[in-house]
Amino acid sequence: MSTDDFPTDSPAIVTCGLPYANGDLHIGHLRGYIGADAFSRALETLGQEVAYVSGSDMHGTPVAVNAEQEGVDPAEFALEWHEQYEETFPKFNVEFDNYGHTHDETNTELTQEIVRTLDEEGYVYEKEIQVAYDPDADQYLPDRYVEGTCPYCGAKARGDECDEGCQRHLEPGEVEDPKSTITGNPAEYRERTHNFFRVSEFADYLTEFLDGLEGTSNARNQPRQWIEEGLQDWCLTRDMDWGIDYPGSEEEDVVLYVWVDAPIEYIASTKQYSERVGTEEYDWERVWKEDGEIVHVIGRDIIQHHTIFWPAMLEGADYNAPRAVAATGFITINGKGLSTSRNRAIWAEEYLEEGFHPDLLRYYLTTTGGLQQDVDFSWDAFQEKVNGELVGTVGNFWYRSLLFAYRNFEGTPDADVSEEVEERIEGAIGEVREAVNDYSLRGIGQAATRLAQFGNEYIQRNEPWKLTDDDPEKAAQVIRDCVQIAKAVAVLLEPITPEKSQLLWDQIGEESDIADAGLEAALETPPRNFEEPGELFEKIEDDRVAALNEKLEERVAAAGDEETESDETDSDEAGDMADDETTADDLEPLLEDRIGFDEFQDLDIRVGRIEAAEGIEGADDLARLEVDIGFETRQVVAGIKQLHDLEELPGQKCILLANMEPAELFGVESNGMVLAAGEEADLLTTHGDADVGEKVR
Ligand SMILES: [Zn+2]
Repeated sequence: MSTDDFPTDSPAIVTCGLPYANGDLHIGHLRGYIGADAFSRALETLGQEVAYVSGSDMHGTPVAVNAEQEGVDPAEFALEWHEQYEETFPKFNVEFDNYGHTHDETNTELTQEIVRTLDEEGYVYEKEIQVAYDPDADQYLPDRYVEGTCPYCGAKARGDECDEGCQRHLEPGEVEDPKSTITGNPAEYRERTHNFFRVSEFADYLTEFLDGLEGTSNARNQPRQWIEEGLQDWCLTRDMDWGIDYPGSEEEDVVLYVWVDAPIEYIASTKQYSERVGTEEYDWERVWKEDGEIVHVIGRDIIQHHTIFWPAMLEGADYNAPRAVAATGFITINGKGLSTSRNRAIWAEEYLEEGFHPDLLRYYLTTTGGLQQDVDFSWDAFQEKVNGELVGTVGNFWYRSLLFAYRNFEGTPDADVSEEVEERIEGAIGEVREAVNDYSLRGIGQAATRLAQFGNEYIQRNEPWKLTDDDPEKAAQVIRDCVQIAKAVAVLLEPITPEKSQLLWDQIGEESDIADAGLEAALETPPRNFEEPGELFEKIEDDRVAALNEKLEERVAAAGDEETESDETDSDEAGDMADDETTADDLEPLLEDRIGFDEFQDLDIRVGRIEAAEGIEGADDLARLEVDIGFETRQVVAGIKQLHDLEELPGQKCILLANMEPAELFGVESNGMVLAAGEEADLLTTHGDADVGEKVR
């Protein structure tokens, strides 16, 4: 990989976290697949050679458990889901260059080869460990077959991850008070020999890797903390028969842990693509072993797998390191956690059955928040965004300018684009380039929408309808400008709304595929003649939204009482977004130790007003704030750079711990601490008339 801006001379690969072949897709899943698809398309418009691949994750205990419950073979069970996903993705204009699955031959062979290499290089050793065992069921209990308490944070945890607490990966034998999920009985621990990967040896390598890693800041910062706390070696094997055999253990019921073969599918899927199109066209070995630009789009619940285990495996087996890991936030529904067990979800099938165009959802999911922010979905917000931005701004501009051009000039008038408009389009192209290099899908959407907004203002300001009789030449020039802007908006929006952009492309008489056009096409002259245009976006009416809300509420209410523990196995293991809402189990445990009022009085907490906010150069997350606390203005450093729009902070009231010891961060003195809560650093404030400088008591 390189550190040059995109486009580079090396081939790129974009991947998204593998969907776990275990249940219906919902918009929480789609955010990642659509996001990665849009990013891959955006790279292509920059002229970057790129392929987009993924595959279904077929292995692991949730598939085994659910297949067992249905009395079918796990392979058959997983394959059915795999086929359903393969059919669903194109319906959302998610177009993979290759979509495989982890149980196919390519992935099986490649996985065994990589594990053999790690073994030969001395990165694998055998160790006796305690493994949970259910004496009644007479079987070992890997991963999801066991539940208990997280040894790190005390939350309720699955056998292999603290999914509701600190999100840590848990090794076999780590979970406390283990209970069998088969019988519900307490599990015994029995001694077994397993193979371990020496992840701990990669600490220095990984530290350096993270320093250069692009993508979202959460994918760098969380793993840094894990490395500081000390990396543990990683158990590679499990006592079960569903999965890929550990090389040499084909006779026994010992398979590789699902998280070994799942990411290797990224490589296997690339290889299948190469084999299909020929290595002249796209060379998987160059990408994965030489200089490819590897970009992983994942859910933030699987950061550890992609920034610790995966790069260590790649390095140990002599593969190329990822250039970027972009970890998306979760999707909430009406402000609450998406929950499949409570049926508080918008299902992929359901969305399509409602007859909404896929590009509307693509636009909503990619432009509503930054990549690492949680995005709330409600039918009301969806309606507002579609009606306001796609119908009101983009669609309105497209339709009025093309209709005017068609009626008065039968297409694009013979005139040159004005300098003003050319510069404005060039500016928008620059914004898109920058957004792609910042891994900001929202930035791409905003550049396009703002250009359409400019188009609306431009047509309003120049009133071509008044000019057609008096000054036909001027009218021709204004309309020529508008057709160019319409074309440019279509080009810039293509990664996000590929089908709608293609329709606009067809309307202005272009005969090619807009996906092949590239950003420069935004400035190229459109064909001379085109047919009467139609409207490309349709307003969503209020009664429609009311009906959809009612339907969702009824469904959630109906599911409310039926939730059971076993629903846990519905959700996803390897490839995608977590989907349970915040419960008390998610929260940090309350402190047992009480303090006296005097001790509280020692904290000098004041109401402040943010006067200025700016990012600190070289620090991913830190912002420098100037906070007025009545007596004086304090300079404070806060870890909120990625989580807030800094431009919007000045003027806002905040709460400041004023007698915090001063500290220096990245060369900037911090004299106090602004208080915030939650993963998104929600800033505390006051809601009444408390004046700046008043003490919190
Ligand atoms: Zn935990």
